[in-house]
This record gives sequence, structure tokens and C-alpha cells, in this order.
Amino acid sequence: MTTQNHAASRRKWNFRPNLDDQLAPFYRWPPKPGPMLRYILASWSPIGVRMLILGFAIITWFVFVPELQDCREFSLDWIAQIWARNLLTMLVVAGGLHLYFYSLRRQQDEERYDTRPLMRNSRLFHFNDQVRDNMFWTLVSAVGIWSAYEALMMYAYANGYAPMISFGAHPAWFIALIFLIPWWAGLHFYLQHRLLHTPRLYAAVHSWHHKNSNTGPWSGAAMHPVEHLVWLSSVFVLLLVPSHPLHAIFLLQFHVISAATSHSGYEHLCLGGRMKFRLGDFFHQLHHRFCDCNYGTFETPWDQWLDTYHNGTEEGEAWMKERRRQLSQKKTAG
Ligand SMILES: [Zn+2]
Ligand SMILES: [Zn+2]
Repeated sequence: MTTQNHAASRRKWNFRPNLDDQLAPFYRWPPKPGPMLRYILASWSPIGVRMLILGFAIITWFVFVPELQDCREFSLDWIAQIWARNLLTMLVVAGGLHLYFYSLRRQQDEERYDTRPLMRNSRLFHFNDQVRDNMFWTLVSAVGIWSAYEALMMYAYANGYAPMISFGAHPAWFIALIFLIPWWAGLHFYLQHRLLHTPRLYAAVHSWHHKNSNTGPWSGAAMHPVEHLVWLSSVFVLLLVPSHPLHAIFLLQFHVISAATSHSGYEHLCLGGRMKFRLGDFFHQLHHRFCDCNYGTFETPWDQWLDTYHNGTEEGEAWMKERRRQLSQKKTAG
């Protein structure tokens, strides 16, 4: 990259990680077992977001879940318990991160991707305020639909509509499914996200999430309710695949909690000058900024394979401009 390009990139991004190095190394040829193993170990690191969510899902199953036999019939008692726990989870995770990064500014702009402030007095957002808009749609719609889907799955397990296994009887499949869940979440996310970028669905539904051209922790799950219905529907694969309620809880928590961390706007939570805790997702931050790139995740290969990958550099941007030009030429010719 030239010096001039470096300067231009710095103006756009206050912090820009090397995205090419962050991509999952599973889809390169020839396969490289070393980088693959390192990637798996890092993504399942004991102090990584993924493992912490899994830990929380296990605690949830043992402590914060209604008795399965009580879920044979719908009742406000146990459904309200699920809803209250999910509401509290988002208040703690998204609320805590927002407080730390944006209210108290404890990390200033260290490792913050985009230093443009979250929007106030903007008619673009409900309540004319980005954070209030994001909080409302997260706490009301995302938490509501997340809880409804979790309750439906509990009802399905309790009544035998979902094929249920136990760890004791099927330990290998039980563990394999835990590893497969983030992969499935990424695949489902990509497919429904591409669908939501078709012109009509984008205008009616997905544009709500894209109001956030710069994001904060509350932006991750701030979407149109129809998008919540589609996004979290990935859990219903467990009506076909033998699983345990822990898998359903983990899958739903994985979607919603990691949306709060990945939209935090910061690459790392830096504690005490030494401890760094990876949160952010520059890959998706680029999608919020430019809209027509990086539809998947840094773990899925689709954007690289289908030429919609933007790595955040000036070269990446030049390629996206060229792609737009080619697409509009095709449209005109068609
Ligand atoms: Zn997003
Ligand atoms: Zn999008």
C-alpha cells in the first residue's frame, strides 16, 4: 500500500486491523493444518466471546431454565422466566459495554474503528436518537422473539416434537453439535442476509438495521421485528437434528449476545493496559459502512468466492467501486 493510501485509510478508520489475517483459513487451497488448528484454538479460547457464551449457556441450562416437564404446556410462569432472563442478559451485556465504551468513555478511542459519534437528534431513528432506537428494538423485539423461540423449543423438547438426546447417551454428537453451532449460525446468517438485501426486503425490513452506519453495542440486535423472526429462525433446524435444549439455548445466545459484542465498534476491550479481550468485527463494520460488501462473516467463504469481500484497505475499496461500475454497466446493457 502506498503512503498516500495509508493516509486515506487512516482518515476513514481510526483503527483498522489486518482483516486478511483474521479470515478463517479453512477455505484456502492447499489446506494448511497449522493455521487451521491455531484458528480453532483461538476462536474457542477459554477467554474468548464464544467460550464465554457457551459457559453462560451451560450455567443457564443448570440454573436459569424452567423444569422441562413444566414446559409441556404453555404457561406464563415459565415463559416469563425465560423472557426476564434474556432481558437481563441484554441489559448487562449491551448495557454494560455501552456504559464502558460510550457513556464513561473508559477506553477513549483506543482500538475504536470509527470515531464518528452515535447519532442524536436525527429523524432517521425512532425517538430521533440512535441509542434509544437501538435499545428499544433490542429490548422489545429482539428479546421478545428470542424468548418466544426459546419457549417454543422448550415446548418442542418437552413434548417430543424435537428429537432430544442426552450427553450421557450421545457424548460425541453432543460435543460435535456444539462446535457446529457457530458454523451453522454463520451459514444461516449469510443466506438470510443476502435475501434481506434484495431491493424490496431491504427497503421494508433490513434498512432499519442499516440506519446504523456506525455501530455501538445496542446496534447489534436492533432490527425490524421481521428480521428478528428470520434471523433467529436458525434454531428450528433443531426440530430435525437430534439435540439437547442446551444446544438451542447456546445457538440463540450465540446470535444475540455476539451481535452486541461484534457491533461494539471496538476491536478489543483493553483492560489495565495489558489484558485484551477481542470483541469487535471489522468485517461486519465494513458492511455497515458500505452496505454492498461483506454480507457473511469472517468465518464464511461466500464473500471471497462471490467477489463481495472488502478488506478495509484502499485497494479493497477500489475493487468495490470497480464492481459497482461493472454491475451498473450490466444493468444498463440489460
Ligand atoms: Zn450489523
Ligand atoms: Zn446488511
